[in-house]
Amino acid sequence: MAYKIAVLPGDGIGVEVMEEALKVLDKISSKFQIEFEFREALIGGAAIDAKGDAFPEETKEICDWADAILFGAVGGPKWESLPPEKQPERAALLPIRKRYELFANLRPAIVFDALIESSPLKREILGDKGFDILVVRELTGGIYFGKPKGIFDENGKKKGIDTLIYYDWEIERIARIAFEASLKRKKKVASIDKANVLNAMVLWREIVNKVAKKYPEVELSHYLVDNAAMQLIRDPHQFDVILAGNMFGDILSDEAAMLTGSIGMLPSASINESKKGLYEPVHGSAPDIAGKGIANPCAMILSAAMMLRYSFDMEEAAKAIEKAVEETLNEGFRTADLYKKKEQEILVGTKEMGTRIAEKI
Ligand code: NAD
Repeated sequence: MAYKIAVLPGDGIGVEVMEEALKVLDKISSKFQIEFEFREALIGGAAIDAKGDAFPEETKEICDWADAILFGAVGGPKWESLPPEKQPERAALLPIRKRYELFANLRPAIVFDALIESSPLKREILGDKGFDILVVRELTGGIYFGKPKGIFDENGKKKGIDTLIYYDWEIERIARIAFEASLKRKKKVASIDKANVLNAMVLWREIVNKVAKKYPEVELSHYLVDNAAMQLIRDPHQFDVILAGNMFGDILSDEAAMLTGSIGMLPSASINESKKGLYEPVHGSAPDIAGKGIANPCAMILSAAMMLRYSFDMEEAAKAIEKAVEETLNEGFRTADLYKKKEQEILVGTKEMGTRIAEKI
């Protein structure tokens, strides 16, 4: 049986880094005797130019067919003057998340030991050890979607309202994803809430505790979000999986990403209950470097590893990719974004970085 993958390179460096991820997956295919079937489609600005729609019908059909979607990046100055609802990011990514109910957003923030100096954290905090945190964020509920929502008139005064709602089933399903993910890691879950002031978060804590009972081997701790924001900077090594609702997860995943200091290294996944997923680098289409062959392909390649792990349950193959990335960095190979002009570093372009990683598999 072949695993079906929709390949959506998108715009700018999306196209360049996707090529390297496919190179690595080809190598995985031969090494592990796994068959992948790839179908490529247009998305974002490229799709607007060709079809007048950022997420055209043909692309929808290919995504419907696929078990997982590999997504490069979309957007760029060419499309910035379009009305907001037609902009590539909004008109491509949001409909995909909605169409497949991708309620769980998984964002690893990893500092490989070789890249420790990219982190803005002081060495006295990090020592000589990088860190590896996985933020599991609920993506389709919470205060970003709760109703009532809007700006209303009340007795001649204006009031703005957003509503924080979480249903027990929404908390339960995202908690399960976090606990399951932790089983493949250090078996620690830190659940984030604000149960001291928010009712929805009292329920959050109650349901997370209930789910935890099914995972006795996992160590669960609860952090108030303000404390979590501090602890991430004080001692990131204490975290393994961070479980959070939509808004807190949004903020903490960006904080954790900044602690790595290298946007070109950060992958992400958004998955649903049947494990169909969208896998994409955290970075955008980087128009400032697009076409120069210097983009870092690691975030895209590591997104492909996440696809193997979370949609296809191929832990060994996923680890093989991550190890290949790590070894390539250990040997000193760096794309321009990571290059610090040190003696042991060797500056390489997008293609060479991809080839070196593929060769290590
Ligand atoms: P960006 O992530 O594209 O770039 C930010 C900076 O990081 C740039 O200096 C860029 O050169 C650098 N950078 C990013 N990825 C890199 C990589 N792999 N290797 C080396 N350097 C890298 O963010 P931006 O500049 O704010 O946005 C550019 C365009 O991308 C915009 O149109 C934006 O809307 C879009 N965007 C798309 C997505 C997405 O597709 N999911 C996400 C963010 C931004």
